[in-house]
Amino acid sequence: MFCKNCGKDIDDSAVVCPNCGVATDNMAKNTTPAPAQKNTIALVGFILAILEFNVIALILSIVGLTNSRKPEYAGDGKGFAIAGIVISCITTAIWIIVIASCTAAGCAILGAAGM
Ligand SMILES: [Zn+2]
Repeated sequence: MFCKNCGKDIDDSAVVCPNCGVATDNMAKNTTPAPAQKNTIALVGFILAILEFNVIALILSIVGLTNSRKPEYAGDGKGFAIAGIVISCITTAIWIIVIASCTAAGCAILGAAGM
């Protein structure tokens, strides 16, 4: 192809003209950011965490967080993934405390709750 600035015949794959240094059409193609993919897994993990599907939510959130670090996601869903991990850990911790209390105190808590 020919440089649009100086008209010199340059390599078709060149991103800048070696003669004058002006960016070619290849530069425009290369710098156009690919649309970031939506990190649906992270969002689903976050929603499941709110709904207290702890184990599934934790797994999906971790996968979502891993995905958010990939270039094609460009960080999308990272906040949801972290929130999903935190929420599912907290709700799991609460359940462990409840179950531990139940075991220790002969189901006093669950008994009081009418369960
Ligand atoms: Zn040129």
